[in-house]
Amino acid sequence: MYEVLAKDIIHCKLCPKSCYIAPNKRGFCKVRENDRGRLFTLAYGETTAQAIDPIEKKPLFNFWPGSLSFSISTISCTFSCVWCQNWNISQVAPGEIRTEEISPEDAVKLAKKYGCRSISYTYNEPFVWYEFIMDTAKIAQKENILNVMVTNGYVTLEALDQIAPFIDAANVDIKGFTEGFYRKYCAAELKPVLNATTAMKDKGIHVEVTNLIIPDLNDNSEEIREMCKWHVENLGEETPLHLSRFYPHYRLASTPETPVSTLEKAQKIALEMGLHYVYVGNVPGHGGENTYCPKCKALLIERNGFDITEWRLAPGKSCPECGFKPNIIGEYEARSRVPHSTI
Ligand code: SF4
Repeated sequence: MYEVLAKDIIHCKLCPKSCYIAPNKRGFCKVRENDRGRLFTLAYGETTAQAIDPIEKKPLFNFWPGSLSFSISTISCTFSCVWCQNWNISQVAPGEIRTEEISPEDAVKLAKKYGCRSISYTYNEPFVWYEFIMDTAKIAQKENILNVMVTNGYVTLEALDQIAPFIDAANVDIKGFTEGFYRKYCAAELKPVLNATTAMKDKGIHVEVTNLIIPDLNDNSEEIREMCKWHVENLGEETPLHLSRFYPHYRLASTPETPVSTLEKAQKIALEMGLHYVYVGNVPGHGGENTYCPKCKALLIERNGFDITEWRLAPGKSCPECGFKPNIIGEYEARSRVPHSTI
């Protein structure tokens, strides 16, 4: 994903940052280094976390509900969001924190050992260790383990093309809906995110979108309405949207948490705009965590946090009241317990 220019300058084409990297320097993400005209990744196999998560924690609510996912992360990011809750792994350079090396083969073995349906590349921006995901996902696919990316969607269409056949699902974080917001708070651009998210959907990846609603920054009703309009037109009404509650973090430590009423207002807008599955996130016990039938509004899946407390779908995954078939990929895998363990 790069080309070598005059004087060994490298143009990296992995993400829309499109860095031009001089010899002995690194790109914005800090993990791709120009060594005498060759671009090396410094993140390959370097994990900052290995954990077993409910798939609902990604969050993916309409994909293999109840299943477990082997979650792994590395360091760095292509964004620098001022509210990042994982800034201690996303905003550091190689060598600044301890990592544990893992091979693609071992990642797949661990996923199988712990009974996980999928591997999630998560916690930091996964596209920065593109080569490692590619190698791992290919092995996982052969072993019937699914591959999930939890991403900011900042990837070139060329890079996405190559990895898409090995990715089953993605949760894309659409952080706001103006270029100004992306520039000011994330050091990035919105348009490439929208293009990549649409491309993922077009390539048959199961997509769910998360939008973290932050008081006064992106909670404007008109902006939410615009985002939902784009969502329906480009991803379809059947693509789930998670409206998540902000909690103070990192450089926004003094911003108050999002009022639940703001999330409920945004959910109402999204439903009015025609989205079928609109979830309220980070408010455990809220009714907005449930899945309702888009046609007759019957309760289909009841949740509390990441737990499924009631599965009401009829055999064939249809609504027990009206027979509508909701967009649920895979089967329900009931968990006897919810692990939140780091291995
Ligand atoms: S992946 Fe890293 S080096 Fe490459 S363009 Fe993006 S930020 Fe720059």
